[in-house]
Amino acid sequence: MQKIQMKTPLVEMDGDEMTRILWKQIKDELILPFVDLKTEYYDLGLPERERTKDQVTIDAANANKKYGVAVKCATITPNKQRVEEYNLTEMWKSPNGTIRAVLDGTVFRTPILIDSIKPAVRNWKRPITIARHAYGDVYKSTEYRVPGEGKAELMFTAKDGTRYRQTIYDFECSGVLQGQYNKDTSIRSFAHSCFQYAINTKQDLWFSTKDTISKQYDQTFKLIFEEIYESEYKDEFGKLGIEYFYTLIDDAVARVIRSEGGFIWACKNYDGDVMSDMVSTAFGSLAMMTSVLVSPDGNYEYEAAHGTVTRHYYRYLKGEETSTNPMATIFAWTGALRKRGELDGLSDLRAFADKLEAACIKTLDDGIMTKDLAGLVDDTAKVKAVNSLAFLKAIRDRM
Ligand code: NAP
Ligand code: MG
Repeated sequence: MQKIQMKTPLVEMDGDEMTRILWKQIKDELILPFVDLKTEYYDLGLPERERTKDQVTIDAANANKKYGVAVKCATITPNKQRVEEYNLTEMWKSPNGTIRAVLDGTVFRTPILIDSIKPAVRNWKRPITIARHAYGDVYKSTEYRVPGEGKAELMFTAKDGTRYRQTIYDFECSGVLQGQYNKDTSIRSFAHSCFQYAINTKQDLWFSTKDTISKQYDQTFKLIFEEIYESEYKDEFGKLGIEYFYTLIDDAVARVIRSEGGFIWACKNYDGDVMSDMVSTAFGSLAMMTSVLVSPDGNYEYEAAHGTVTRHYYRYLKGEETSTNPMATIFAWTGALRKRGELDGLSDLRAFADKLEAACIKTLDDGIMTKDLAGLVDDTAKVKAVNSLAFLKAIRDRM
């Protein structure tokens, strides 16, 4: 068989623990036999980040900018325990945070749906994609306990020395106080990423904030989205027959639950954090959640939404059989290959991505699945729970 050819390399970012094991198996079983794979490889595994003082992460992010499309394996974000476990000289930052900062991107999370697992919300028929503005607000806020009686003020000093000052509250007792911010530049990037992703995936875009209560802060988000939509994207949306729709966050929550799905829901940072957990849980499993980082100038980084599945890795190291679900990681590869195919005009590479996804779905429809999914299926008589490698081989058979 003639292998499928590529033009531009994919930026390949390897990772840690169980997902690193799956990474190699996915390539060996499902990609390399069919595609003459071209990648520029970056090892983002923690030992290599330590060895390069995290330079490898920055290099990988810059390569993502240069070539446009990357596929990333889950990576460890070090905490105190990891610093000891891996003998680190520093608590290196989250690679995802570093890449996101370089690309100035927005993360879109979409569940993979299969017939045998019904969403907790009965009327959801198509996936709901959450776009979270991963910058600022409460995540970068300054806050403190107010010890007792006194006056809290909000003050801004402009570069020319002009001061703006407003009373927040005259405290008659102890309490709490918080200051948060966001930047027009970041909100604009968020808006562009959302509109472009909607066009790319031909889906409606919903955006929600609490602008009736937050008349400056949230209102700014609403106005920036509106202005960019009207001036840059309205025509394209019209041509594609898709819609941009703004509503209050509480109205959005009600509409999302009543909907059939099949749209993108853009959320401010905190709303996106909370709602993406709710939506992914209601759809079934974190192991079936895909994720793509989209920059406002059209660069893409595809990955699974879950982490490195540490608990399974320690069982694997002990020689025990593991049944870790590779679906989201496979879909990271198909997402990246399809995008590469689109950008380079390679229809057979795009078709390969479609076929691999179809083979995955067919395998699950045939009842062959990893243990995490087997537990979610209603009709258990049909199900055969297998380990990760047997699952990959079953997909390959169907390819
Ligand atoms: P996790 O790796 O997502 O795993 C949490 C639990 O969810 C697992 O123990 C497993 O449950 C289940 N699970 C997740 N993915 C699964 C899959 N593909 N197949 C089957 N079960 C799956 O989260 P974590 O344990 O909190 O984090 C582990 C490491 O990942 C941390 O070092 C963290 O920093 C990192 N992380 C990285 C990313 C990223 O790179 N994007 C994201 C999140 C976390 P059971 O054990 O009950 O089977
Ligand atoms: Mg969360």
